[in-house]
Amino acid sequence: MRDYREMSFANRPMAARKTFSDFNPADGSVWAEIPDMDRQDARAAIDRAQAAFPEWSALPFNKRARYMIKVAEALEKRQLEIAEALVGEGGGWFGKGMFEATFTPEIFYTAAATNYAPIGEILPSEHGKVSMVVRRPMGVVSVISPWNVPLLLTGRGMAFALAAGNTIVLKPSEETPYTGGLVYAEIFAEAGIPEGVLNVVTCSRGNVQEVGDELIENPLVKGISFTGSSAVGRHIAAKCGAHLKKCCVELGGKDALIVCEDADMERATAAANFGSFMHQGQICMSVEKILVQEDIFEPFLARFIERASMLKVGDPSKDKSNVIGPLINDKQAAKVKDQLDDAVARGAKVVLGGGVDGRYIEPTILVGVTPEMKIYQEETFGPVIPVFPFKTDDEAIAIANDTQYGLSSGVITRDEKRGLAIAERLETGMCHINCSPINDEPHVPFGGVKASGVGRQGGLWSTETFTETRWITLERGGRAFPPVF
Ligand code: NAD
Repeated sequence: MRDYREMSFANRPMAARKTFSDFNPADGSVWAEIPDMDRQDARAAIDRAQAAFPEWSALPFNKRARYMIKVAEALEKRQLEIAEALVGEGGGWFGKGMFEATFTPEIFYTAAATNYAPIGEILPSEHGKVSMVVRRPMGVVSVISPWNVPLLLTGRGMAFALAAGNTIVLKPSEETPYTGGLVYAEIFAEAGIPEGVLNVVTCSRGNVQEVGDELIENPLVKGISFTGSSAVGRHIAAKCGAHLKKCCVELGGKDALIVCEDADMERATAAANFGSFMHQGQICMSVEKILVQEDIFEPFLARFIERASMLKVGDPSKDKSNVIGPLINDKQAAKVKDQLDDAVARGAKVVLGGGVDGRYIEPTILVGVTPEMKIYQEETFGPVIPVFPFKTDDEAIAIANDTQYGLSSGVITRDEKRGLAIAERLETGMCHINCSPINDEPHVPFGGVKASGVGRQGGLWSTETFTETRWITLERGGRAFPPVF
């Protein structure tokens, strides 16, 4: 067991304090003891971030870029160890841990590169003024991150804001306080980032509300980066609205994969298998509905079942070939089981899997799912996937759009024109033709529409979100005032 009791939000050790246990979901063992901070700690962290802001924001842009490169390098140095921590703390497959540990440094390299992009525009002026638009850092930005891809999503939430000159108070999920939080305190110290630029506030479920409120309501906080569920995101966005604060909320999804009759069957079934079961379906862009054109429904289902039945279920920290690990906690497993039971009770048929053993749920494929079933509308966030037949593209688009969510989507077809025409009509922030909906790159505008969020993260879109846009003019004698004045 790791003990982070001595680690403080300010990267400095402090006296032993109240802690909470961080569990390995694979076997329920205590993986780490974590400082349990409260509202007062959050306030102190915000004060520290505010104190660090003038110096950090005044650094030349290329110095901050170099610091971001140092963070990327420090992450790279510890890749394997971090991947193992992601497996131990989050219960994911080793391959998912390695993906996260290699993708996240790229985010910081991209953030460094972003600093070399223009920071404003020159506008025409009818008075001959020099009319400038400039982007300036906001001040303290709060980052609240989820447990499912903790290293990557925390990194994405803060890297661009930091590069732009903001300072950060980070509250990781109580399920992954190390890989989503404290690891960054270590990494930033290793990279030599000035003290106070990053401040990590870890807390147990019991303190989340008060710490979260402070991270939004404190007048020194100017922007909020939230990634998590739509339920909490609505609450956060409403609070930010009441306090007139800029926020970016990246939320849940109910992504569809549409497989047309001309699809490459191997590509389609691989996209379905990866999209539905990677990290036990606990990815915001996971495939949650597979729509297959009637003519190929049976062969698609047979090949998909064949592929999915080869995924090994078990403790990923004991065996790297266990691709399907546990769900993050009992509550999440109970939610997925409830959706599965509800679907079966209302007439859905299990064609693969269906086994539930505590937090472990077998890759499960359902047919015969109908709109009144919970699994049709609610985000599942687990390895249970319904497959639906469709006749026409109009019908597939209607089923895909029949949800409150709108994060990502996928279309598999050999006809690129048809793929683009379908993509055009899907109500999602992102769409990937001939791929699974699960796609990310650090420099792209990542985000959803409808209940999947407001705002975009990634590259210059994050910079836009976490800077203030100012209009500054320089008068050169071209604008006269009315003579009466
Ligand atoms: P969650 O909403 O329960 O928690 C997210 C974060 O918010 C955690 O740090 C949590 O402690 C914090 N939080 C909870 N209540 C709060 C409050 N009242 N005030 C302030 N903070 C609060 O989500 P989760 O279970 O950690 O993550 C899974 C969800 O996140 C899924 O719905 C998934 O689709 C979504 N997600 C979205 C994206 C995206 O980029 N769109 C990425 C990953 C996950």
